[in-house]
Amino acid sequence: MVDFIAYVTERDMERWRREGRQDILDIIDREQAFWAGDHLISKVDGRYLDRCPFLTWEGELHCCSIHETRPEVCRNYEPGSSEICSQFRG
Ligand code: SF4
Repeated sequence: MVDFIAYVTERDMERWRREGRQDILDIIDREQAFWAGDHLISKVDGRYLDRCPFLTWEGELHCCSIHETRPEVCRNYEPGSSEICSQFRG
């Protein structure tokens, strides 16, 4: 799973502010994910980010803990549609 929050837009941020989702904004602020060409790192301390912080494990399934208000990039995502997907063909 790739960390999509590097692709969060200002529209996503505005929506979360409007919805009072400070929990999400705090995580975005803490991670500061940055796409480094072939992997994600934290702008804060350069650490490797290997998964989305909103991805949770429920029983036998991985789930999005913010599904109802997930970022636009996740709503619009189709396999192979982005450079962060291994199936991407630019
Ligand atoms: S759908 Fe949810 S868990 Fe998956 S990348 Fe987007 S925010 Fe993260």
